[in-house]
Amino acid sequence: MKQKLFGKTLSELQEIVNLNNLPKFTAKQISEWLYKKNISNISEMSNISKTARELLEKDYEIGLQSPITETISSDGTKKCLYKIDENKYIETAYIPDKDRATICVSSQVGCKMNCLFCSTGKQGFQANLTVNEILNQYRSLPDFETITNFVYMGMGEPFDNLENVLKSLEILTSDWGYALSPKRITVSTIGIIPAMKRFLDESKVHLAVSLHSPFDEERQKLMPIQKKYKIADVLAEIKSFEFNRQRRVSFEYIVFKGLNDSISHAKELAKILNGINCRINLIKYHKVPDVPLESTDDDVLLKFQNELKRKGIVTTIRASRGQDIDAACGLLSTKQLLINK
Ligand code: SF4
Repeated sequence: MKQKLFGKTLSELQEIVNLNNLPKFTAKQISEWLYKKNISNISEMSNISKTARELLEKDYEIGLQSPITETISSDGTKKCLYKIDENKYIETAYIPDKDRATICVSSQVGCKMNCLFCSTGKQGFQANLTVNEILNQYRSLPDFETITNFVYMGMGEPFDNLENVLKSLEILTSDWGYALSPKRITVSTIGIIPAMKRFLDESKVHLAVSLHSPFDEERQKLMPIQKKYKIADVLAEIKSFEFNRQRRVSFEYIVFKGLNDSISHAKELAKILNGINCRINLIKYHKVPDVPLESTDDDVLLKFQNELKRKGIVTTIRASRGQDIDAACGLLSTKQLLINK
């Protein structure tokens, strides 16, 4: 099987070039063809000698893959389904909004974290995505040149696949890669502390932490990771890190009806986040089959938001997008798995 060039960092391309006895500068040329000129075939690398291209074509290919289905919502949101392997699927969302467009990428097939409310978690863990598979979700989208913002909030826990996520960030933000501003990229985690520390040290992109409850016992029921990495320890780690003014930390909070939407939750949330310069994104829950949780009512949500604002916390309510196309992450791929059965 041929190795895929797309998804290689500059130093990995350098290794390939050395291995094939090609001139050193060829690595930089290949990275430009891959990440700036967006080619699909090695034969298009016109400033590389024909002999070198033929040599590369023997063992390598660019390695792009189109989505197997593309579903468009009435609000313009798109969901793409990619087949990674036999019975392994991932999904990617494209969310256009006025003058910006956000892509939400997956980092794993399934997930081992087993959060109560999550459709991906119900699939269990199947595989880590390679760097090629993470970035292919971006590059192979028909609208990829319109994308302004990048979030790692799709299927999987990005910090459980940290090595590949860091490499993908290197390719997205390096001058030799896509040269995107780190300010346009956010990685979301449920709070795996050792990986979060490494991420904070080794990348410049924004961090989002899924919080969902300020109370330990309740959070543990929603997110079993709480048992291993307590939210208090996650927050202590964030407090000890010096964020520069370019870098943002935000907290994601899915508001479940009658569970975590009370004023005392808002008060406790403000208390535990005291001392962190952050914003909270309140998210309406997209119903998942067989999960006894529902999204809170709009008036309760507004009261919750007002209480947080009163405490001085910047709080936004994330607009619900793609409701008509299985918006909850993991639903589309779960359906595909059921069809295959
Ligand atoms: S919410 Fe995220 S971390 Fe939790 S099971 Fe789903 S994909 Fe995994």
